[in-house]
Amino acid sequence: MSVRTLHENSRCFVCGGCDGDYHWIKLVLYFFADKFLLLHFICLVARSKFKYEYANYYTRYADQALQIYRVSSAAIIDKNRMKEAEMEVARLKAIQPQLESQYGISFSPIFALRKHIHQNAEVGFQEFQTKAAILAYLSQSCHVPAPSVRELLSTGFIVDISGLAPAQGKAQTLALRSELDALAMKELSTFPHASRASAAHMCGHDGHMATLVATAEVLMKCRASLPGNKTVRFVFQPSEEVGNGGEQMVGAGALLGVDEIYALHNGAHKFGQVAVKKEGAMSAGYLQFSISLAEKQDPTMISPKGVRATNAITMIQTSLYPAINAKVGRKEFVVCTVGELRAENGEGKMSGTIRFDRGEVMETTKAAMGELVRNAAATFGCESAVEFSDLSMPVINAFPQGEYLLGAATKVVGKGLILNQGMSASEDFSFMTQHVPGAMMLVGATFPGEKEKMLHNPHFDYNEEIIPLSVAIWLRLIEARFGCSLAAAA
Ligand SMILES: [Zn+2]
Ligand SMILES: [Zn+2]
Repeated sequence: MSVRTLHENSRCFVCGGCDGDYHWIKLVLYFFADKFLLLHFICLVARSKFKYEYANYYTRYADQALQIYRVSSAAIIDKNRMKEAEMEVARLKAIQPQLESQYGISFSPIFALRKHIHQNAEVGFQEFQTKAAILAYLSQSCHVPAPSVRELLSTGFIVDISGLAPAQGKAQTLALRSELDALAMKELSTFPHASRASAAHMCGHDGHMATLVATAEVLMKCRASLPGNKTVRFVFQPSEEVGNGGEQMVGAGALLGVDEIYALHNGAHKFGQVAVKKEGAMSAGYLQFSISLAEKQDPTMISPKGVRATNAITMIQTSLYPAINAKVGRKEFVVCTVGELRAENGEGKMSGTIRFDRGEVMETTKAAMGELVRNAAATFGCESAVEFSDLSMPVINAFPQGEYLLGAATKVVGKGLILNQGMSASEDFSFMTQHVPGAMMLVGATFPGEKEKMLHNPHFDYNEEIIPLSVAIWLRLIEARFGCSLAAAA
């Protein structure tokens, strides 16, 4: 409700419900409502102590005036916040023309490449067209020489860009990583670049690729200002969603000679807000568990045959969280999700996933689960087995790499847009940070007033407006790590 609405309804301007008497008193109360708390108090005292008949009257209008004052101030605050948010967006959007004029590039073909990749989405280890499109762009538009590209596995590849300026300090190789794969799901959007394939880029990897391609394009233009003993390696990794591409790329030698590695993921948080930790978990670790129970021949058991496994599985289900919390502690991050639960004919099965943020937490959770299952099985005369599979560790921002990334992001978006937090999903970039110190950041993509676009939903589309600011963060990071100032050759 607003003052304007009350006015339009031709009701009392201030309270909206009275017969219109004593407007002048109410107007005074309205304009000085915050200062009339004292009057309000006096009225209350007058009413209770002296039973003064007009005290009721004033109390009522003081209440109404305060209410209107609060509603109007909240509306003004909201309006101001929106205005500030829009100014912030405009400041971040200005990064695109700044980069274009500073480095002589254009983001339009980059956005077109992103849309092309989005439209022709491919799942893990099938990213043949995706790879071809990126390699063609790097060679034709960025003039990356063929020997700089090395293909790994069936669809992965790395691109090394070294400087042409005199060597400076020690030789360094800094890697930036992007995923190539889409999800095996149908896109439900109908815009022109919606996927025609049975796969869809609902995690935004199309935008991550475009960001690396644009960074490579800038770097190719700035090689004269990049020392000759400094190299940026662009790592294009297949099959992240299934969680096996990162590990295989490491096995194939993608990180040989790399000193440090960085990656980004888009997020549903505020546009341009960068979530990054100086040190610690940026994503959750992931592990699947599978519990099986089978009744033993045990004449000492009182429970009838055929239901003992059912009882055991019920005991496990109800005690799972208390048992894990008791061992791990409530302050630690651990989430157990049961995906399958069944028991019949003397057999029981339960499976699901465990998410965690530290290796020690995972080990304690596994131990707590094992102990609970053994106890439940012994109580109800069952054989038991617990199996764990598909382990993916959390992405851990190493120190000082996390701090370097935080510094670069702060330079671009400003201190007010930095968040010290990670995400609860898992990411197979963790395989890379286990081998080479590195860090990851999450770049927010939701405009003020816009509904958050959650990852992995069939209507997702990458917000291209975060590509230029992400490129700027990579450029500032490269400059900081290599101690140089990137400038496009005239
Ligand atoms: Zn994903
Ligand atoms: Zn992803």
